[in-house]
Amino acid sequence: MPPGKIVCIGQNYRAHAKELNSQAPEEPMIFLKPSSALIGDGEEIVAGDVGRVDHEVELALIIGRTARNVTDEEALGRVSHVAVFNDVTARDMQNAARRAGNPWTLSKSMDTFAPMSQPVPLSSVEDVHKLELVLTVNGEVRQRGNTADMVFPPERLVSYISRFMTLEEGDIIATGTPEGVSALRDGDLVVASIPGVGSVRNRFRRK
Ligand code: MG
Repeated sequence: MPPGKIVCIGQNYRAHAKELNSQAPEEPMIFLKPSSALIGDGEEIVAGDVGRVDHEVELALIIGRTARNVTDEEALGRVSHVAVFNDVTARDMQNAARRAGNPWTLSKSMDTFAPMSQPVPLSSVEDVHKLELVLTVNGEVRQRGNTADMVFPPERLVSYISRFMTLEEGDIIATGTPEGVSALRDGDLVVASIPGVGSVRNRFRRK
């Protein structure tokens, strides 16, 4: 299945919204990341001179069948696979864009800024509403969360997006990150994992 668009959700965990000095939004906050940013397990995350670069561990939903204006009840039936996703972010650039009232697209969209694990069938996961998310840097735990704490659960995200934007086979939804985002340094080994789903490990390089 070729990757489609990547639809990302901002601030979908209250504690993370707070650490960004924001309040959790009243409706899902949507932005896009290009599929050209995708990398797999073992590949390097590479950033140039773009200031602070953060990790964000997230659950990814992968669309298996077209979803257009679906209900919450129909939504998970359109998801075929799940994966672990790292929504790598050039935080200084994003904050500057936010302050200026400009889109923060570039800060999220650079090549290698979308590490993702090998997808596994949704049917192999017991409950997407109770998945633990863990991210380590050089073996030290930086993020630990649970999908139970999402502001908008997976089915709501799919139904909400599909009201405005057709979701197609191969599209990826990155469902937001829990608290604990932190800056990466040259040479760091970043491992994002969701027990029962998988993990993606990537070395960070400043070039
Ligand atoms: Mg994110």
